[in-house]
Amino acid sequence: MTRDLLRLASQEYDIVIVGAGIYGACTAWDAALRGLKVAIIDKGDFGSATSQNSQKIIHGGLRYLQQLDIIRMRESIRERRILMKIAPQFVHPLPCVMPTYGHLTKSRVALAAALALNDIIGFDRNRLDDPQKHLPGGRIISRNELIDMLPGVPRKGLTGGAVWYDCQTHNSERLALSFLLSACERGADAVNYLEATGFLTQGCRVCGVRARDTLTGATIDIRSRCVLNTAGPWIDKVLGRLSPSLSSRPLRLTAAMNLVTRRFLGGVAAGLSSRAGLIEEEALVRKSSRLYFVTPWRDVCLVGTAFKPYEGDPDDYRVTEGDIAALLSEINRAYPDARLAREEVTFIYGGLLPMRRMSARTGEVVVQKHYRIIDHSRADGWDGLVTIMGVKYTTARGVAEKAVDLALKKLGMAFVVSRSDEVPIYGGEIERFGDFLRESVRSRPPCVREESMAHLVYHYGSRFDDVLSHLRKDPSLARPLAGQNYVIGAEIVHATRAEMAVKLADVILRRTELGSAGNPGDECVHACADLMGSELGWDEGRKSQEIKEVTSCYKVAR
Ligand SMILES: Cc1cc2nc3c(=O)[nH]c(=O)nc-3n(C[C@H](O)[C@H](O)[C@H](O)COP(=O)(O)OP(=O)(O)OC[C@H]3O[C@@H](n4cnc5c(N)ncnc54)[C@H](O)[C@@H]3O)c2cc1C
Repeated sequence: MTRDLLRLASQEYDIVIVGAGIYGACTAWDAALRGLKVAIIDKGDFGSATSQNSQKIIHGGLRYLQQLDIIRMRESIRERRILMKIAPQFVHPLPCVMPTYGHLTKSRVALAAALALNDIIGFDRNRLDDPQKHLPGGRIISRNELIDMLPGVPRKGLTGGAVWYDCQTHNSERLALSFLLSACERGADAVNYLEATGFLTQGCRVCGVRARDTLTGATIDIRSRCVLNTAGPWIDKVLGRLSPSLSSRPLRLTAAMNLVTRRFLGGVAAGLSSRAGLIEEEALVRKSSRLYFVTPWRDVCLVGTAFKPYEGDPDDYRVTEGDIAALLSEINRAYPDARLAREEVTFIYGGLLPMRRMSARTGEVVVQKHYRIIDHSRADGWDGLVTIMGVKYTTARGVAEKAVDLALKKLGMAFVVSRSDEVPIYGGEIERFGDFLRESVRSRPPCVREESMAHLVYHYGSRFDDVLSHLRKDPSLARPLAGQNYVIGAEIVHATRAEMAVKLADVILRRTELGSAGNPGDECVHACADLMGSELGWDEGRKSQEIKEVTSCYKVAR
């Protein structure tokens, strides 16, 4: 991956993709795999917006049973299975549990029926060769078993629990990046910190974008036969740069937030209601409660998701201390033993998602449930422009495939079947993850610690040698960074040389897992700045500026 603006300016592409979150990244991969000439740009770092803020659940959509939305469940189950196949290093089974109460929708009977249906609808979920990826069927457990799993759950009215399996991604940032790395290996050109500021047009035909390098201020034109707008919460803002009328029916947005907290659950994710423990009549009266999900992740918990409508410019969105206090109080009500305090929140994930409406019944946000692929030649008379509005990380690949089908049609090109559902992405050439992990750890170079090697397998999969190759010249890069147990110096060098990390925050928050669960500490941040600085020729002033930017990522608005 090379940040080559001159190359972007000197080619004509089949498609230019604006926005390199998970939707843009999957689209670039699917299109490159089908032989299209692709460019993809992002105004920030790759995957640094909504996609960085996901709760990391790759879910089969058990919740959609409430609306009997079988089609959406099938889509989610299929994409979950595909991700386990093409990115086995990142996507792993996650046991989940939900306490059962009373005789209504949260009862043992209702949940037993839901689990049975979930298993029927997901009959093919285990069509994978790797036994590590098999998801057992759902089951109802007794009150005592539930209390063993979730000792702090409210016990009033508790009757037992429902257990099922979903998946979790160990690192959603590197998963998105790996789609991009794969696209680039198939000839796509990707550039970060390059903002689409306008469109190139001929009559009512879009034929590229004008883009500004946010690092230098330089402007370039990128010519293409088709533009795909995958700008997430900014899709309207991008369209407004083509014609003000296109952004006059703005996408309604909701803020969505998760907290990274002290680990207070064992190895199982839990769906917890903030009205658990109320007797049924009370529960019916108190409507303003939500189901929260607590997922154990690395050595912390991810807690959420809290929603609230958002009306401002997506660039101005910030999580406030008030938002954090409100979610903490809800979680402490749902799971009183958690007793989470503000100081135990180590990081905040906040992002913007498409909102459908506010529920008149509960006063809660109803998020947009279905993705949209908008062909602007039909919608507004602009040819050569397609917008993709995604609603879930899990299903991005499938939506991208459909969008590329449409792009091929628009380009008048012969149809080529997508293979992104079967071709492993960067690092995904692994048949049986457990065996691969054991063998890689066993045969690691002597200078690499066991924990570091296992970590490299989870983050770089079958391509861990790309990182280890840096040890040949400098074996000291095998040492874990200051204050860390396993992330090694070679990862910083690799991110800078081969993965287009241009800012310290890119390395700390997205290329490595150093800072994605909380501030990794001054010593580590300075060590990374030194390593990156010597690669990129930073002086002391630049280093302290970069360190300041990283520190500001952990600050919250009052
Ligand atoms: C708190 C939270 C928890 C979630 N949890 C889950 C979960 O557990 N599982 C799940 O499946 N989904 C989850 N989601 C949903 C999922 O994260 C999103 O649906 C998905 O990440 C959206 O990806 P995207 O690529 O559309 O948007 P983004 O990731 O926002 O990507 C859009 C990109 O466009 C770029 N851009 C904008 N304007 C321009 C421009 N002018 N020029 C160039 N680039 C531009 C931005 O910088 C950005 O990187 C969650 C979302 C949130 C907020």
